Amino acid sequence: MRVVFGAGSVGGLPAEVERLGAKRVLLLSTPGRAEMVRRIAARLPVAATFDRAVMHTPLEMAEEARAAAKSAGADCCVAVGGGSTIGFGKAIALTSGLPVVAVPTTYSGSEMTTIWGISEKGAKKTGRDPKVLPRAVIYDPELTLDLPTAVSAASGMNAIAHCVEALYAHDGNPIISLMAEEGIRALASALPRIVQNGKDLEARSDALYGAWLAGTTISTTSVALHHKLCHVLGGFGLPHAETHSIVLPHAMQYNRDAARDAMQRVARAIDTVDAPRGTYELEQRLGLPLRLADIGMKEGDLERAARIAAEAPYPNPRKVEYAPVLELLRNAYEGKRP
Ligand code: NAD
Repeated sequence: MRVVFGAGSVGGLPAEVERLGAKRVLLLSTPGRAEMVRRIAARLPVAATFDRAVMHTPLEMAEEARAAAKSAGADCCVAVGGGSTIGFGKAIALTSGLPVVAVPTTYSGSEMTTIWGISEKGAKKTGRDPKVLPRAVIYDPELTLDLPTAVSAASGMNAIAHCVEALYAHDGNPIISLMAEEGIRALASALPRIVQNGKDLEARSDALYGAWLAGTTISTTSVALHHKLCHVLGGFGLPHAETHSIVLPHAMQYNRDAARDAMQRVARAIDTVDAPRGTYELEQRLGLPLRLADIGMKEGDLERAARIAAEAPYPNPRKVEYAPVLELLRNAYEGKRP
């Protein structure tokens, strides 16, 4: 795949589409970004637009986007936006093999992964398929200057979560660990600057660089307990990035003694002594919500979530068991400091 990075680099979007030999683009965006995306795409051979992307790629909407691609005779998808928009590009690519060009405007890292996700009836199904990996990615920090700082901070923590789990993945490797540690360092340094001044182009560049690293790491390694819990909670309708942000310090606390090397690397990257506590304090400084209770989690659903996570666990450094997972979720529900 090709990666183009830099302020103003979205000007090269028509050339990337041309490089693929595409002549009929399906343009993808969320409703809120539709206007901006149309401007960016002014010089593209747009055959149709699907501007109703939403979080967690509900199956019935993915089917609508697939039908739009088919009826327009699209030979390429251009997804401009966050993980939600890119998720629709992936859903189309999964069944049609259409190439995707991604222009990410958040820090989800999805553009660098072979991971797709589709939700149906309150449950999220995910899988890996090289078909969904975008053929070209354009990282242009200028497009992120308007990303609200609260969304930026949560999305950045989602990327940090990818790096953390890559550091203790059962199938990790030393090169990926270098990238993961560097990704955390870049994001932990950029996010406080972004929260202070959303127009700080250098901080925006650093955060996108971190997201690039984060996506690459998680596409190479398996995910563990943290991502499992977030998938389960996503199925309950909780917002993706905020859920990652809130659960992360508690998932790290769960794995603290079983993944000492990873914890040391995280602590070094965010310049703190204790990785789970330092991560929690970083989130506090960023003004992020710290309690699942505050983002729509119902107390009565905690046991069900713990049961689902413990019944079909992902490989994890510490054995995944119902009682300690329930305690983890309770701590995240109450926003307890690790
Ligand atoms: P998002 O894509 O839903 O974006 C959040 C909000 O910010 C949206 O309303 C969007 O329109 C708006 N927005 C995006 N860019 C903007 C900009 N530059 N300026 C102003 N507003 C902007 O959020 P997200 O956290 O990026 O993505 C979440 C989704 O991505 C979830 O469905 C998740 O499952 C998926 N995801 C997938 C992977 C993967 O590897 N497959 C990885 C991470 C996340």
